[in-house]
Amino acid sequence: MANRRSVIAGNWKMFKTVNEAEDYAVKFLEEVKDVTDLDIVLCAPFTALNPLKNELEESVVHLGAQNMSWADQGAYTGEISAQMLLDVACTYVILGHSERREMFGEKDEEINKKVQKALATGLTPILCVGENLNVREEGKAAERVSSQVVQALSSISKEDLSRIVIAYEPIWAIGTGKTASSKDAQDMCATIRATLNGLMGLGAEQVPILYGGSVKAENIAELLTEPDIDGALVGGASLDPISFAKLVHNAA
Ligand code: PEP
Repeated sequence: MANRRSVIAGNWKMFKTVNEAEDYAVKFLEEVKDVTDLDIVLCAPFTALNPLKNELEESVVHLGAQNMSWADQGAYTGEISAQMLLDVACTYVILGHSERREMFGEKDEEINKKVQKALATGLTPILCVGENLNVREEGKAAERVSSQVVQALSSISKEDLSRIVIAYEPIWAIGTGKTASSKDAQDMCATIRATLNGLMGLGAEQVPILYGGSVKAENIAELLTEPDIDGALVGGASLDPISFAKLVHNAA
């Protein structure tokens, strides 16, 4: 791996009440409090962010959200702004997750506006890209993923691009127990880095690219031996604090 930071981010999706989140934070922090050689992020539901802020303050664990609006404020019922996330000490935000694209109709253009807003306000976007099984079987996965990267990052300056994190998440591997082979994941992460280099004029060496899709404590170390995989976005295996801590230790 080049000289760039590793990131292990948990995506809790729509799981955990406030009490459950607080209980998790206490147990998880106890296990990972000495891990300093990678960035650990917990992306929690909106209702758990403020309680987690209190639990995780000044700790090695960063707080992230799973979505946000491109608007600053106003009549946008049901939305949440970057400023609201900053207010509860979020430093990361997942944008363009495949579940939002597939189930809630998010399009690249809207994701681009959200990425721009996150960067303008100082949040680190974890931009998710990835192909579905049909696209992979048609041999068009690299084309689809590159196009998602280019569209989501349209009009963003080279300096701002150096502040993002990208997560390659093949849709067929999310929550299915099927992990992409390390080689397939590496090939796509290298494609993403080449695409970024095209946009940035060779500045992409510092951008962390994560793999996501059924990552567990048992397979993280092998994925991280690949030169262009700098960490993981973890769904199901981030829900238990002890198992997720084990995954973090296996990545560190
Ligand atoms: C995810 O939610 O981004 C994810 C990769 O889920 P899982 O690890 O459960 O496949």
